[in-house]
Amino acid sequence: MENKSRRSANRKTAEEAIRFLDTNMLDSTPSNYRFAYLYVTGVDSGLRKAVNAIISDGVRLSQQDIDDLSGASTTGAAAAMPSLAEDQAAQLRHQALAFGELAAATLRDTGAFNRDLTQGVEAIGSGADLLTIMQAMIVKTAEVERKLAETTRETERLRFDLEAARDDATRDALTNLPNRRAVDREMQTLIAQGTRITIAFCDVDHFKLVNDRFGHAVGDRVLKAVAETLQDILRPHTVARFGGEEFVAILTDVDVDQAFALVEKAREAVSERNFRVRDTDEMIGQVTFSAGIATTTCDPSEALREADHSLYEAKNSGRNRTICKGGMREAA
Ligand code: GH3
Ligand code: MG
Ligand code: MG
Repeated sequence: MENKSRRSANRKTAEEAIRFLDTNMLDSTPSNYRFAYLYVTGVDSGLRKAVNAIISDGVRLSQQDIDDLSGASTTGAAAAMPSLAEDQAAQLRHQALAFGELAAATLRDTGAFNRDLTQGVEAIGSGADLLTIMQAMIVKTAEVERKLAETTRETERLRFDLEAARDDATRDALTNLPNRRAVDREMQTLIAQGTRITIAFCDVDHFKLVNDRFGHAVGDRVLKAVAETLQDILRPHTVARFGGEEFVAILTDVDVDQAFALVEKAREAVSERNFRVRDTDEMIGQVTFSAGIATTTCDPSEALREADHSLYEAKNSGRNRTICKGGMREAA
């Protein structure tokens, strides 16, 4: 019962947020939806006041207003929203509710059409003018078709927003690899399934020098190229951008020796590439990475710490090498 009333309150909030966007003729993007959600729930009283001041004279809220207010809204409840993940989870929940609403509206329309059809058939039975009834039915059919098409378009749009929000939350924009959040989630899932995971922590060597010599844009392209090589060699295992010039691979269904050999293969492939500046053809020279490997069946955080520790050893013993937990396997 309590669940039911919570669900109905959630649905009401979702409806109000969508109506707010519609009234102001604003796109229902995830960020706009978040804004509308904050407004209609009133959790950010400052934001609500600012919006009311704009719309009180009947003026529509513009996209620019939303962008300005979103930037300014770094205090109060909006800022207190704990994390991007939770914020996006809330968006996803509300968009899911919006889906439900659309489906329900379609069902209502179909039900009404069915009733009209039944009445039409009864009217034929009572000897009414067949042509008039058929014309009325044609109009009705066209109307239902139009509504269905509209609903389908709206559903498509919501689905697109939903996928974009979900993808943004788990993918790194530069390399298009899964990000740290995705990798944390994947490790938890695998461990919960009882799978052994082997983690390789890879960090590009002296990457700061690449930026210093050739600029950040060239550095970005080098990171993309390293990401591609790692992914090419380690596929089907997951390669993620952990942050900055750090990548993490999660290997499953291989023993530690096989994981070590694969990471070494990737390390060699990167070090053998001839990096050049695309516009000037200037040689960047060799780019290398160091790696630390650890394995676990129960504690991903501990394995990450161990892999990081081995990476540190690899850096200290000359870089461009892979070290496995405890320094048992080592190569250069
Ligand atoms: P080490 O071999 O000890 O790892 O040396 P390093 O220079 O790679 O390490 P350090 O941590 O000193 O520097 C990392 C550099 O990576 C500094 C930072 O500017 C750069 N970096 C981090 N993220 C990005 C990015 O997204 N793009 C670019 N171009 N550079 C980045
Ligand atoms: Mg680093
Ligand atoms: Mg580095």
